[in-house]
Amino acid sequence: MIKCPVCGVVYRPTRGVENKSSPQPSPTCRRCKADLSDLLRLHNYAIWYHKQALQLMSQKLYLEAAVSNNQAIALNYSNADFHALAGKLWALQGNFAKAIASWQQALKFDSQNTIADNCLQMINVIAKNL
Ligand SMILES: [Zn+2]
Repeated sequence: MIKCPVCGVVYRPTRGVENKSSPQPSPTCRRCKADLSDLLRLHNYAIWYHKQALQLMSQKLYLEAAVSNNQAIALNYSNADFHALAGKLWALQGNFAKAIASWQQALKFDSQNTIADNCLQMINVIAKNL
């Protein structure tokens, strides 16, 4: 989710018919008309790092995945999915204390984050059975 840094309204990309012959209009806030192109670029970078991290995780390169995901978090700290993935990566590396902290962080930004919620519940079940 991207919020306008000027007025705080949530940015929604226009989903119209793509016209390839004309250049894309620069993204602006629908309320205050602030130019959001830099923000969107950062957002896209963050998403790219996050996707990179998911791919590395699928190749079991957890350390590399964590590095990439940390880049995503540095660019967009308030994205719950990034913290949820950070938690998974910590858990996969056996660091459950850090995993739990990451999932709690994810839930702080998005209390509906299912990855973080499911993982925390799973950890609690495991902890009870130990
Ligand atoms: Zn605005």
